Amino acid sequence: SDDKSSRLAEAALAAVPSDSPTIFDKIINKEIPATVVFENDKVLAFRDITPQAPTHILIIPKVKDGLTGLSKADERHCEILGQLLYTAKLVAKQEGLDDGFRIVINDGPNGCQSVYHIHVHLIGGRQMNWPPG
Ligand code: 5GP
Repeated sequence: SDDKSSRLAEAALAAVPSDSPTIFDKIINKEIPATVVFENDKVLAFRDITPQAPTHILIIPKVKDGLTGLSKADERHCEILGQLLYTAKLVAKQEGLDDGFRIVINDGPNGCQSVYHIHVHLIGGRQMNWPPG
């Protein structure tokens, strides 16, 4: 069916889960450029290279600490998880997303996660749809 082939296509786009360093480490270490919109000692927020809306920002922890994705979260990650979401709120305000926005955390192959360093997508600047694709 069309549904099945589109699921297979999405699975092909997703990466194999792993705790190896990712492209985001290179962004944190300034080895590759990114448009950083917010930074503190714990988190980094930068524009997605393939924006899905007028505003599309990724918010990541500077230290991954095994948090490849939300499904790997442990009690010790509660503080950084809160920091990621709170940063999303601050950046949404900074970006002028006063009429609303979308927060997404893709997890694992079915979630179409492609980078195994946890990240919150902040997406806005247009009307979002529901259900998502
Ligand atoms: P995921 O699919 O894992 O939820 O999201 C990964 C996101 O990282 C994608 O939206 C993708 O466009 C973005 N991305 C991948 N590589 C880079 C990069 O080198 N720079 C930036 N700014 N974004 C990237």
